[in-house]
Amino acid sequence: MDADQRRLFDRTARHAADFLAGLGSRPVAPTASLARLREVFGRPLPEDGLDAERVVDELVRDTADGLLGSAGGRFFGWVVGGGVPAALAADWLTATWDQNAALHAAGPAVAVVEEVAGAWLKELLGLPAEASFGFTTGAQSAHLTALAAARHRLLADRGWDVERRGLAGAPAVRVLTSGWQHASIERAMRLLGLGADQLRGVGSGPGGLIDLAALERELAACDAPAVVCLQAGEINTGLFDPFGEACALAAARGAWVHVDGAFGLWAGVSERHGHLLAGVDRADSWTTDGHKWLNVPFDCGLVFVRHPAAHRGAMSTKASYLVHTEDEAGGAPARDQLDWTPEWSRRARAVPVYAAIRSLGRRGIAALVDRCVDHAHRLVAGIGALPGVEVLSPPVINQGLVRFLAEDGDHDAHTDRVIGRVQRGGEAWFGGTTWNGVRAMRISVVNWRTDDHDVDRAVAAVRAALSG
Ligand SMILES: *Cc1c(COP(=O)(O)O)cnc(C)c1O
Repeated sequence: MDADQRRLFDRTARHAADFLAGLGSRPVAPTASLARLREVFGRPLPEDGLDAERVVDELVRDTADGLLGSAGGRFFGWVVGGGVPAALAADWLTATWDQNAALHAAGPAVAVVEEVAGAWLKELLGLPAEASFGFTTGAQSAHLTALAAARHRLLADRGWDVERRGLAGAPAVRVLTSGWQHASIERAMRLLGLGADQLRGVGSGPGGLIDLAALERELAACDAPAVVCLQAGEINTGLFDPFGEACALAAARGAWVHVDGAFGLWAGVSERHGHLLAGVDRADSWTTDGHKWLNVPFDCGLVFVRHPAAHRGAMSTKASYLVHTEDEAGGAPARDQLDWTPEWSRRARAVPVYAAIRSLGRRGIAALVDRCVDHAHRLVAGIGALPGVEVLSPPVINQGLVRFLAEDGDHDAHTDRVIGRVQRGGEAWFGGTTWNGVRAMRISVVNWRTDDHDVDRAVAAVRAALSG
């Protein structure tokens, strides 16, 4: 490698460290307007190339005002984690090694890292050891994978080979949820040809839990193949469905249970909060994210399926030019990653997960979960104690909802106004939502960087926004 390249990489690492070091003092919200960003980046297509160092330096300069500070400790919007240092550094190496994590043969070390990370995750999250797993881009494609496995199994039970025959003429597959499911479930249904109309909400009114009596009635009334989709952590309230009871009802009717635990499944690692997940191990498939509460960089979703044959039957592919590796010592054959996800060529996204788990350990992950939950409670209590604030939903785990009451009675408009002021203030970032018909401010804590001081600064920022 020539000296120019080495200088470029050293310099880039310094840019990255400078960015991270600046997170405490830069505004959390981007300050550049859309027009400004288009002007900055919208150069004519270059005919000739530029020096790499200049490209990188200008990228750093040009993005500076247009980045959201979601990697920092005072970002509480959506459910967006940060990156623990070991995972971020491992992510750089993953890009550097540039292994194609489709096949064991295309990168044996990262393929085995994925095998081990998958086994560790099952142990951490309390999922059955026999479950198969896949590392996807996010929970969205993890849902797609899990529901494809469900579709395979439920239709095979009725003598229908969906991979060969397709869906035309097949029995419709029902999907039963609380009605508070994340929109990614419906999109997975659309992509799989199940059809969004097959979704049935059997919820228990405001709140977001599945209604067990309604679920039992619905399962008894329909003899269609059915998936019961439960939630570990509803996006607004963080509520958990009653897994054990729902799984028993589903099992009695031959239904498949899928759990969306994009962030909430991680509560199972904590001794304090693990009880919320009682019975979750009885489901048939589970989705979670690495890029939320585990704090690995984007993009990392995780899917687990109790029935490896259904998982593999839905996803596996063979082509004559691929190389499938056997273990020369007579152990289990190598695991080809493309058998378990909808993707072919892909980055080795298990590497940052492996690094995060090694650097934190089970105790460190549990402490991260507990700390975020404590911060969420402190944030909701601190903001809730300010004048004119109504707490709509105190945290079950790391999510809470508040709203801001207006003297003129237009609480929705006032709530959006206050959220806007907090965001523009740059000290902290919260997002809005509509919950049970009213506008609310969502409080979500999943970043490993958030500390007590960040919580104090965020509460002070809301106080300042309330006084105009
Ligand atoms: C974030 C989230 C999703 C979607 O996950 P992606 O990783 O963004 O694809 C699905 N369900 C819940 C509950 C979520 O919080």
